[in-house]
Amino acid sequence: MRAMNADVGILGGGLSGLSLAALLGRDAEVLEATDTPGGLARTFGRNGFLSDIGGHIMFSKDQEVLDLMVAALGDNVAKRRRNNKILYQGRYVKYPFENGLDALPKEDAYDCLISFLQNDAKPPPHANFEEWMYFTLGRGITDRYLLPYNRKIWKRDPKQMGTEWVERVPRPPLEDVVKSAIGIETEGYLHQLYFHYPIHGGIESLPRAFAAQARARGHRVVTGCRVEKIRRSAGGWVVNDEREYRHLVTTMPILPFLLTLADVPGPVMEAARKLEYNSLRVVMLGIDRREGLDELTAAYVPDPALLAHRVCFNNAFSPELAPPGCASLQCEITTNPGDGVFELDDDTLAARVHAELVSVGILRATDRVVEQMVQRERFAYVVYDLGYAARVKLIADYLASLGMHAAGRFAEYRYINMDACIRRTLDLSRELDRG
Ligand SMILES: Cc1cc2nc3c(=O)[nH]c(=O)nc-3n(C[C@H](O)[C@H](O)[C@H](O)COP(=O)(O)OP(=O)(O)OC[C@H]3O[C@@H](n4cnc5c(N)ncnc54)[C@H](O)[C@@H]3O)c2cc1C
Repeated sequence: MRAMNADVGILGGGLSGLSLAALLGRDAEVLEATDTPGGLARTFGRNGFLSDIGGHIMFSKDQEVLDLMVAALGDNVAKRRRNNKILYQGRYVKYPFENGLDALPKEDAYDCLISFLQNDAKPPPHANFEEWMYFTLGRGITDRYLLPYNRKIWKRDPKQMGTEWVERVPRPPLEDVVKSAIGIETEGYLHQLYFHYPIHGGIESLPRAFAAQARARGHRVVTGCRVEKIRRSAGGWVVNDEREYRHLVTTMPILPFLLTLADVPGPVMEAARKLEYNSLRVVMLGIDRREGLDELTAAYVPDPALLAHRVCFNNAFSPELAPPGCASLQCEITTNPGDGVFELDDDTLAARVHAELVSVGILRATDRVVEQMVQRERFAYVVYDLGYAARVKLIADYLASLGMHAAGRFAEYRYINMDACIRRTLDLSRELDRG
């Protein structure tokens, strides 16, 4: 008889897989396809210029999880204040938009305010995301900012998107919107006004810290091991015909995971194939100037004429993400095959993004790009289209019928941040440890 490789096999070594291994008391082994664990929470770079895969900050309303993330980093963590702006028609408006109305021309601010206060939009239940936006923030704010920004990041008409995920978008207190329109300073999205971030090494320091904790518990993190085939055995599950586990937890994206199994029912497979997502390009530019490029944390860019929907100023996250006197910027671009951006090669994409940053004044024509890199991620954003809920339920029920556990952003198919991933792995570790 084959000896079990571990009690629990964890498929995928992103933040979910690694945090689960760090938390589990039972013997566990993590199988990660790439050579560098961390998944979407990796950090890439060259010659002292570093960038995450999209700006990653640590924040949470879940204090237990936040404490756990911060503690995992030990001394390698600092607390910082968000300073995000929206680049709206050539001017910077405080983020979120409803907290920055006084930066708009007076007529626009009035229109945003009056349509927020006298909102005649359709009340709940809302059939789609667009209806929800009009109801929650009114016509003025929705037409000027929310609709163009969301069309750009989601690459879809918000009428074709569901509302299952909108609790992520906090609803502003009425007093804040009125105050912001008349110029009294307010802050929105308070749960992320202050955030934690590693001092060295970018956000990848967090999954690395969990990997170290997992190893310290005696678990294995196996890299360069792509899960391709899974079958049942008498004692549990066999992976790639060579490794056996009593329990399996998948943190891999659903479709590639289901493709490893034989005999998945047709409707489940079809549901998985229809799950929608957006891919991502992150263009990192290393600039030979720091001054003026580390004050904002991020600029949101609703203008559809520009490629990036968000520019993050990495040195506002940590001064160490670029050599002294230089700055690291990252531009996030959602994309899908056939949209003309997906097909661009890295140099063309980076040159276009650079020219656009100069055109809107984020960079000066005299700034020199001393480093550039483009990172490509296939699975970046879960999209809640109108068929989402039924499909995800069908798949989750099927996995439960097999006795398999799913944890993580693309394994559970939820638009979740690191904190919700860790909440899930914390709960799952307790469940598995109870036996
Ligand atoms: C642009 C962007 C910005 C974000 N900003 C924030 C933020 O500010 N704050 C925040 O808290 N969160 C943020 N997030 C979310 C955060 O990155 C994710 O919630 C989290 O990293 C997901 O971790 P995961 O382990 O569930 O999934 P992933 O990171 O997707 O990990 C899955 C792992 O499975 C591996 N894998 C896939 N197929 C196989 C296979 N066949 N065999 C073995 N391994 C396989 C992959 O290589 C990967 O390592 C952001 C995400 C994005 C895209």
